[in-house]
Amino acid sequence: MAEVVKVLMKRGVLASATQSLDADTAEAVALAFGADVSRAGDGAEEGEEGEAGSWGVVEEEDPPESLVRRPPVVTVMGHVDHGKTSLLDALRTTDVAAGEAGGITQAIGASRVSVEGGGTLTFIDTPGHAAFAEMRARGANVTDIVILVVAGDDGVKEQTVSSIKAAKAAGVPIVVAVNKMDKPAADASQVKTQLLEHEVVLEEFGGDVLSAEVSAVARTGLDKLLEQVQLQAELLDLKANPDRAAAGVVVEARQQLGQGAVATALVQKGTLRVGDIVVAGAQWGRVRRLQDERNEEVSESGPSTAVELPRRAGLAAAGLPAAGDAFIVTGEETKAIVTRSASHSFRDARASKLFASRSTADRDAFLSGPSSELPTKTLDFVVKSDVQGSAEALCSSLESIEVSDDLLRVRTRVLRSGAGAITAEDVMLASVSNAVVLGFNSAAEQCNVEIKEYSIVYDLLDDVRALMCTHIRPPP
Ligand code: GDP
Repeated sequence: MAEVVKVLMKRGVLASATQSLDADTAEAVALAFGADVSRAGDGAEEGEEGEAGSWGVVEEEDPPESLVRRPPVVTVMGHVDHGKTSLLDALRTTDVAAGEAGGITQAIGASRVSVEGGGTLTFIDTPGHAAFAEMRARGANVTDIVILVVAGDDGVKEQTVSSIKAAKAAGVPIVVAVNKMDKPAADASQVKTQLLEHEVVLEEFGGDVLSAEVSAVARTGLDKLLEQVQLQAELLDLKANPDRAAAGVVVEARQQLGQGAVATALVQKGTLRVGDIVVAGAQWGRVRRLQDERNEEVSESGPSTAVELPRRAGLAAAGLPAAGDAFIVTGEETKAIVTRSASHSFRDARASKLFASRSTADRDAFLSGPSSELPTKTLDFVVKSDVQGSAEALCSSLESIEVSDDLLRVRTRVLRSGAGAITAEDVMLASVSNAVVLGFNSAAEQCNVEIKEYSIVYDLLDDVRALMCTHIRPPP
């Protein structure tokens, strides 16, 4: 990452890891690292890539007339043991399209439920705010609606509150499911009153938050809940352009026995087709096979659908994309390399396919000599600063720090950065990912997370270096 920033600076371009590059710059960077580059449209019309000759990392606005209704993407959140998993399972088996075969589909990190009377919902299966926060931390906003599960016999608890905060911070509407209504001790009105204290105001109290009383175990109220979710989705008027190259987010990635690396990708716009070249995080490859949420082979996948991308079906390079990595479809293979190198997660790409055309010696030299053979520990940070410019500069400086001894190499990674005060959300993201929050000239609030405040940049960088060194040798 630091190396790429250096190359960019030599060209007079001040870029951060999340920034888009124009085609000429991207090409220069790729060439500097030994990649072969040829452009779609070389010696010909630029075609669908637009006048700027972009490499696809630049967001193009879809014209309004191209947009059509898409299903909502729903995440279930709430306190542990309040029934998130049970509710998801129960909702999945209401799937009218699953027929009599049972309906439980292989868990690929997402599932689709067709609702009585038409309409479809896409559920992200990974319950809990950890996954949600992690994806948000990486800049991926995958969820349209949060179903907040609150056990009727237990009421609002700590993780209920953090789920509410996470949803509010992301601007995602909540639909409340008061669960376990089969239990005699369940008291829905008490739950609803408790929610008021956290500014979740249900319709019956004059607010705009929809709700349903359910029992995941007794299977009651499920239709009402799905209705409410659909109603909320209609209010959101969710749309996407299906007639463009697909783009979306990796929602889950794992090693699967016999299949190697498997990634579940949520298509957010466009249509993903067999034959497309996909760049996902540090990985890229041609899609040879697509599998939908029901484990069935499909030839294409439109907005708000989740698909499984097995390694042998394309995502080739070593390692896995990470949950929260953006994926895009790009026109040709060499371009895929450049696009990836310019995409936000290319800091992870240093050791991957980008170097495929170079010798091992070159590669090792680039990866800072013999230390590249060492196991690497990555320390995560959330960085907030008074202005955007200084936040970006700080991130570049932070990510260029690397310390090592004979046994271990320690690197830094910025999970999220930005201008403004340190917010409850920053703290929550840090707490779920064991990160340290670094504030530079900004206000802080403490919440069981290490927060360090600085007004001298060198102090900040020195402290981080010292912190990293404690992983190598005990503090004096
Ligand atoms: P999670 O931690 O939020 O995913 O909660 P689980 O789905 O694992 O449920 C926790 C416990 O509550 C399990 O023992 C479930 O059987 C039970 N449970 C979940 N939903 C209901 C419900 O509607 N009624 C009753 N009585 N028990 C439930």
